[in-house]
Amino acid sequence: MANYNPKSLKAEEFIHDAEILETLEYAEQNKRNLALVDEILNKARPRKTPAGCVCLGLTHREASVLLACDIPEKVEEIYRIAEETKLAFYGNRIVMFAPLYLSNYCVNGCLYCPYHMTNKHITRKQLTQEEIRREVIALQDMGHKRLAIEAGEDPVRNPIEYILESIQTIYSINHKNGAIRRVNVNIAATTVENYRLLKEAGIGTYILFQETYHKQSYLELHPTGPKHNYDYHTEAMDRAMEGGIDDVGLGVLFGLERYKYEFAGLIMHAEHLEAVHGVGPHTISVPRVKHADDIDPDVFDNSIPDETFAKIIACIRLAVPYTGMIISTRESQQVREQTLRLGVSQISGASRTSVGGYTEPERPHDSEQFDVADQRTLDEVVCWLMENGHIPSFCTACYREGRTGDRFMSLCKSGQILNCCHPNALMTLTEYLVDYASTHTKEIGFALIEKELARIPNEKAQTLARQNIADIKNSNRRDFRF
Ligand code: SAM
Repeated sequence: MANYNPKSLKAEEFIHDAEILETLEYAEQNKRNLALVDEILNKARPRKTPAGCVCLGLTHREASVLLACDIPEKVEEIYRIAEETKLAFYGNRIVMFAPLYLSNYCVNGCLYCPYHMTNKHITRKQLTQEEIRREVIALQDMGHKRLAIEAGEDPVRNPIEYILESIQTIYSINHKNGAIRRVNVNIAATTVENYRLLKEAGIGTYILFQETYHKQSYLELHPTGPKHNYDYHTEAMDRAMEGGIDDVGLGVLFGLERYKYEFAGLIMHAEHLEAVHGVGPHTISVPRVKHADDIDPDVFDNSIPDETFAKIIACIRLAVPYTGMIISTRESQQVREQTLRLGVSQISGASRTSVGGYTEPERPHDSEQFDVADQRTLDEVVCWLMENGHIPSFCTACYREGRTGDRFMSLCKSGQILNCCHPNALMTLTEYLVDYASTHTKEIGFALIEKELARIPNEKAQTLARQNIADIKNSNRRDFRF
């Protein structure tokens, strides 16, 4: 059997089954080892240095010990450190986005997904460029600036040319003061050449969920279609990085396999990217299996309760402090509220998971990918975030200023976030409030912005942010950024 090697480009060597099993064994044996748990917690704590706040992160073994630990005071401490870490690197900003489903044609047989090829009763749709235009206008009219495009895998109906043309269409639309400034892409694993084309098309993050790191389960859960190939899927991020995309987003679909196995695999994947490419994942998503057409989530017997879900999120926050974490509208308002504190830095709002759903007056269910638990409008989500002390941010500055990959990580580590991300968040929130918000949301928002402007340490940056905000309020000038 191959040895564990985080630097290897072979899936079975960097996601190494025996290493994961040993890790789980080690975690189980040490979950009440107070000295070790304390040592790991100390390592995880953010620390101030002359160069700013730093976090060492944790190895998959260390993080797995914390995940297994069931001593109530220590679990509380995990949560406390997760909150501290979140505040140290992300502050109280929450980045907003929406998914845009382009097509649900799919040739795969994924057992948990309603788009699976043998589902004959789901309505199949592929948006034309004109339909994409209309969807994007509807999204812009809500106030969205950042999208994640989603499509089933169908090399004939949804070839890369279709995806590229759709990205071009999305970027070309400016309705009123609207614009989509960052398109993230969640499409099936593809070739280096296609990743290069996506990079040239100006995408933000390439997102691909592993679904499960457990190879045998993966093969069973993906019985047919190109996605059946575990190695090709698991090695996709390396091809994406070879194609020039340096912001990649990992994810596990929780519920399919035992969560501790998935957690160790996920952190090992992050370690692998860091070891090979010098930069870890830009984001990690934490979807849980949901009910959908033809899909009964109870069939999968590894579902996790909210409490465990929160602990997973806190432990991810400690293990990879510089990686953004995303939670979608699969989760309820209550779960989102708790996980935002513990480390989530990006959320979707007002999502419709059906193809063409944004232009329908009522939420359509016929082509939906999963049931949406949080069905609030974007205005309601923005207002709720602010009432809970968060700053909803529509910022897309980093990748447009070339701060991707390790350059983004250095910004994160340099402590310049308050002089850069903070004003960007406040300026884009002002755009949202002026152009799209209800009167009530405006009131809360402008008061919050006034208070938060005073927290920008650099005087010049603060003055400039104030000027730009006044400009946004008094003119149609938009898209200021640091
Ligand atoms: N087709 C692409 C691929 O193969 O990766 C990705 C697009 S798919 C629209 C996005 C993600 O939705 C999948 O990777 C999967 O994790 C998630 N998903 C599928 N079925 C789901 C369900 N029933 N509940 C929750 N999430 C689901």
